[in-house]
Amino acid sequence: MNRWLTPLITFVFPAKCRRCETPMGIGQVHYLCDACWEQIEFLKPPWCQICGLPRWSTACAGCREHPPLFRKLRAIAFYEPTLREAIHLMKYEKKQVISKHLVQLLQAHLPADLASTDYDFLLPVPLHANRFRQRGFNQAEQIAQGVAKIWGVPVRTDILVRIRDTVPLSSLHSREERRKSIAGAFEIQSQDSIQNRKILLIDDIFTTGTTINEALKVLQVANPNCVDVLTLTRTRPSV
Ligand SMILES: [Zn+2]
Ligand SMILES: [Zn+2]
Repeated sequence: MNRWLTPLITFVFPAKCRRCETPMGIGQVHYLCDACWEQIEFLKPPWCQICGLPRWSTACAGCREHPPLFRKLRAIAFYEPTLREAIHLMKYEKKQVISKHLVQLLQAHLPADLASTDYDFLLPVPLHANRFRQRGFNQAEQIAQGVAKIWGVPVRTDILVRIRDTVPLSSLHSREERRKSIAGAFEIQSQDSIQNRKILLIDDIFTTGTTINEALKVLQVANPNCVDVLTLTRTRPSV
């Protein structure tokens, strides 16, 4: 091969998988090898009717004891090393090719107990304007657009806004610190758009639930008919 072309190709197609460092050929999804993508275990029912944790057929003990603010929450897969690397590449290295692939995974694994007819609109968790400018895109919005393409349900980005720019919650250790940091971060632009509506709130990841819960609290004040949550991935519960 031409001595100029080889470095160019190596630059465009990174030679090693970012997770397992296996050399990668052209034709694989960039940055992560096929074997790593195949290791993702997609969540399948039976699962808790409310929070979607597997191995429950009705409501799990956690949901029975402390009913959450959402009607139901579904994620496509647990947050394991391949998805951790992929989300990092998408959010912090702005690799659009990974973002597209993640949206395709979500489209291919939409939970069967979520239906387009159940929702009036999809509501991506917003980023603060500063963060949006910095990143150039909102990953939650890209995911919502992917669902909208399949369902034909509108994505609304004009209803819920983030009015405070918070520090990344992953940098805070205690639940209390995270809760305080996010309190008051969201605001509703038009109450009328929420009242009696069936809403699917969408984000890339559900970890401690601090962000989602704060958004839900704000939404509930405007009396929606129901709010469900869909995320690409969720961390495993610690128990
Ligand atoms: Zn790999
Ligand atoms: Zn549950």
